[in-house]
Amino acid sequence: MHVPERCDYLKLRDVTKTFPGQTVPAVSNLSFSINYGEILALLGPSGCGKTTTLRLIAGFEHHHEGQICLAGRTVSSPVYSIPPEKRNVGIVFQDYALFPHLNVWQNVRFSFNSRSRKHDDTIKTILSLVGLYDLRNRYPHELSGGQQQRLALARALAPRPNILLLDEPFSNLDADLREQMRIEVKNILRATETTTVFVTHDQEEAFAFADKVGVLQEGKLKQFDTPEKIYHTPTTRFIADFVGEADFIPGTIVQPGVVETDLGLFPSYSHVPEGARVEVMIRPDDVKIRPGADETNGEIVQRTFRGSINSYMVKLDGGPVLHSDQPSTLLYDAGTRVRVQLEVEHVVVFPRTKRDTDRSHSYTPDVELSLTGTRQVV
Ligand code: ATP
Repeated sequence: MHVPERCDYLKLRDVTKTFPGQTVPAVSNLSFSINYGEILALLGPSGCGKTTTLRLIAGFEHHHEGQICLAGRTVSSPVYSIPPEKRNVGIVFQDYALFPHLNVWQNVRFSFNSRSRKHDDTIKTILSLVGLYDLRNRYPHELSGGQQQRLALARALAPRPNILLLDEPFSNLDADLREQMRIEVKNILRATETTTVFVTHDQEEAFAFADKVGVLQEGKLKQFDTPEKIYHTPTTRFIADFVGEADFIPGTIVQPGVVETDLGLFPSYSHVPEGARVEVMIRPDDVKIRPGADETNGEIVQRTFRGSINSYMVKLDGGPVLHSDQPSTLLYDAGTRVRVQLEVEHVVVFPRTKRDTDRSHSYTPDVELSLTGTRQVV
């Protein structure tokens, strides 16, 4: 039996696709790889090329540059393309595309293209795995949204595909069910060691579900990393903004790897030269606020209750506005003076754009050089 390499199980190299009549490629020079059993989320705003990438992997679209390898063989190149039905790819569409006139069992059996009973054991196993064996005689309209999704998954997984492709798989479900299904589906994919690529524009979903995340912007892969690295060390301002909440305050690189801001001096991830003016990314979970402190440096402008947290909007005396996530039980009124501090080990900085340079920003406190992550006022 042919055992494919576990490393680089799916590999795209310099894949470019331009649709007929278009001048701008839908995807451009796309290169990435994932290992056997990994789950990849392709994340990005509408029109960035997520679905096109999925369709190229499935073989529904052809590319004129680059190469796609799957399970140890080249499935497409400019001169060669294995048709979709020969790639052994499982697909779950956004609307599940179940056959309404077939019951649960028959829907799964359909994926084998055969009425033979030789697949009965496999169908029974997969329906048991997704918790639908007892409902095997029901028709799709007799199932809940979550059950329909599990049926679509079972149908795609039953023939043991080389790879599973999911197109916005949770978008039809309400928020509670979506979270539950994310966990259930992830457990099923783990149990079956299914290599998976799914597309989403929902960052929370990508983080909760995937081992790796590829962020696309205008057809280009901007970052390919673990969810944690994408969140904490985004490589561009676009990603910082798109992924999670972020505020940006002005700063200056005062020595290599050290940025000075209104909130103090911080070690920074950057190769920006000394003297450069930058934007410093601040996540709301890094911002601590202390009302009633002796030396305040900001004022609460607004509180938004979000269930498990209160999101405070705080205006620094120097001008910029930051958001601070606090426990839901900590209630402060708008107008409360607070001491704002950053609790971070490193900050991420980006070169300042013209728009930010234009913004007036005059507050420059006296600071002494300290790399403790909190500001030292002298
Ligand atoms: P969404 O989140 O809205 O589904 P997406 O990231 O999946 O967007 P794609 O569907 O991959 O984006 O589209 C990428 C670009 O290619 C878009 O500009 C789109 O208009 C264009 N495009 C997609 N399919 C075609 C087609 N068949 N013909 C011409 N242009 C296309």
